[in-house]
Amino acid sequence: DGMLRNIRIERLKDKLGTRALPTAELTLEGTPAQLVGGAGDGVRKIATLFNVTRVYNAVAAVAGMRRAIALASDYARRRRAFGKLLIEHPLHVETLAEMQLELRAAFLLAFRVVELLGKDECGDATESELKLLRFLIPVAKLYTAKQAIAVASEALEAFGGAGYLEDTGLPRLLRDAQVLSIWEGTTNILSLDALRAIERGDVLAEWTSDVKRRLSGLKVAALSSCAERAVSAVHRIEQYSERAVSAGSEFQQAGARGFAFAIARTEAAALLIEHANAQGDQVAVTAARRWCARELVPLTEADAEYRADTIALENGGA
Ligand SMILES: Cc1cc2nc3c(=O)[nH]c(=O)nc-3n(C[C@H](O)[C@H](O)[C@H](O)COP(=O)(O)OP(=O)(O)OC[C@H]3O[C@@H](n4cnc5c(N)ncnc54)[C@H](O)[C@@H]3O)c2cc1C
Repeated sequence: DGMLRNIRIERLKDKLGTRALPTAELTLEGTPAQLVGGAGDGVRKIATLFNVTRVYNAVAAVAGMRRAIALASDYARRRRAFGKLLIEHPLHVETLAEMQLELRAAFLLAFRVVELLGKDECGDATESELKLLRFLIPVAKLYTAKQAIAVASEALEAFGGAGYLEDTGLPRLLRDAQVLSIWEGTTNILSLDALRAIERGDVLAEWTSDVKRRLSGLKVAALSSCAERAVSAVHRIEQYSERAVSAGSEFQQAGARGFAFAIARTEAAALLIEHANAQGDQVAVTAARRWCARELVPLTEADAEYRADTIALENGGA
């Protein structure tokens, strides 16, 4: 009926970014409500919604990256520094190309989960695809969010001092990107979510065999060495997860972020290779090769000694 019906607005929150989307602190006291889906199991029921919102988050991360890079790339073709256009400086081109690589990886990662979610929503997903969807959603969300913040920051810097000025509209890109790794689950919380795949060994096995299958029988010879690196990354993840099972919960939790990043980078490697293999164009091959030349599995062996050192480090020796 348009009335507030016992919803009290305490305040509108003063946020770092996403100001076009107000966030309010509300108190609901005696507000009429209707149970959706019956009482109990609330978290389980809302979990399907998280699947959708986390996929949206990954797509928004990619969109933000694309915009930031488009602006930085355009500026590099107009701004002159040290006697020539920015785009003519080898180190600046290197910086922009690295951003493009992040974007390509994030795009493929995000749209891998879009594809799987679409199949699920149309009732076309196999059992295996449903397991992959469940496993890859937190990974894609957390990784693309982190990369979107890094790319927004780099794009700002690519404008030099102008990037720091509000009237260019660029600071807003960074402020808006920063929330992507917080809402819909922080990086750590989603890493712990991905970690559960170690406990449910069948999910991890589903993913490792999927990646190996997709990397077999490539027709572009220039991709074979990076496919070998990606398969070797999968083996290292498998061995790590076996060690993590016997090493216990503290080992697993302390290493969860490295584990999730390893899955994300390796899945992105497989996607970049597959894409290059299907397209056969030189830029796609270069992207796959450069991505695979990076560290794909930043795993942390967080045994008791390592964790004791971590605690001392965090304390600053106090
Ligand atoms: C702009 C904005 C809009 C939002 N909109 C909504 C909304 O519409 N609906 C809604 O329900 N929520 C919303 N949120 C809430 C958001 O989902 C939470 O803020 C977010 O999930 C983090 O939870 P928290 O704030 O309680 O942080 P905390 O849980 O207090 O976490 C603080 C830090 O500790 C870390 N941490 C916590 N637990 C662990 C652990 N077990 N292991 C390792 N690290 C850990 C986290 O990673 C984080 O870095 C919104 C938040 C923002 C900023």
